[in-house]
Amino acid sequence: MIPSPDTRHGVILYAESVDVSFSGFKALDGLTLTVDEGELRCIIGPNGAGKSTFLDVVTGKTRPQAGSVFLGGNINLLDENEASIANLGIGRKFQRPTVFSDQSVLGNLLLALAGHRSPWSAFRYKTTTESQRKAEELLETAVLTEQRNTLAGRLAHGQKQWLELAMLLAQDPLLLLIDEPVAGMSDEEIEKTAALLQSLTPEHSLVVIEHDMEFVRSIAQRVTVLHEGSVLMEGSIEAVQSDRRVQEVYLGEC
Ligand code: ADP
Ligand code: MG
Repeated sequence: MIPSPDTRHGVILYAESVDVSFSGFKALDGLTLTVDEGELRCIIGPNGAGKSTFLDVVTGKTRPQAGSVFLGGNINLLDENEASIANLGIGRKFQRPTVFSDQSVLGNLLLALAGHRSPWSAFRYKTTTESQRKAEELLETAVLTEQRNTLAGRLAHGQKQWLELAMLLAQDPLLLLIDEPVAGMSDEEIEKTAALLQSLTPEHSLVVIEHDMEFVRSIAQRVTVLHEGSVLMEGSIEAVQSDRRVQEVYLGEC
């Protein structure tokens, strides 16, 4: 039986004093970060700040040397492996899409729907009509209804990214971790991605890592700035962009 996270305190993800070292170099250094249930959190920070490493820790790919990481108040993610963390309802989207190129858009979604995360959802999506209905819903969410019969390999870059998001959503994740979703996208694709991600909350909780400040400004509720493996500051996008320390850190990058 897969446990459900206890979110009575409104928290979906809780990381405290997390340290990750790679042969003596501290990629994460006492990182403490809390994400509320139903929130869309943006994490920004210069290259090498530890953003992707943080996602690696949450998904079980990297083991921290110290600290704690909890899903809800009750599930210790450091006791779980990558597969069980995915089964607990944490989905991660990487930059490079991993869709099945020789399958149609609809085919990809039906495949994703067939690989459910829990016996309960397997039961829910057992009937073909049920997966068909769910697939239609996902096509609509990802604005791909017109491309349903298109081979995934023939989609534009942005459409591929949306299909992959829809495939993640097929597993009905509680928490979605998304690394640089708009890299390589056109302005129009970026706008659509912003609308798509916003439509996913508050049903899902999202952590979005992104470099594109315009994009962050368009979707962000709360922004966390990472620098040298820990939180430099957290607040509204306005507060973050007008913060002197944040400006210095970004200037250092240019
Ligand atoms: P960001 O995503 O914020 O750009 P990363 O989390 O990818 O930063 O990396 C943080 C730091 O840790 C970088 O200096 C990077 O070189 C280092 N790092 C990340 N993963 C590894 C690894 N597997 N082995 C050695 N160093 C790593
Ligand atoms: Mg990164």
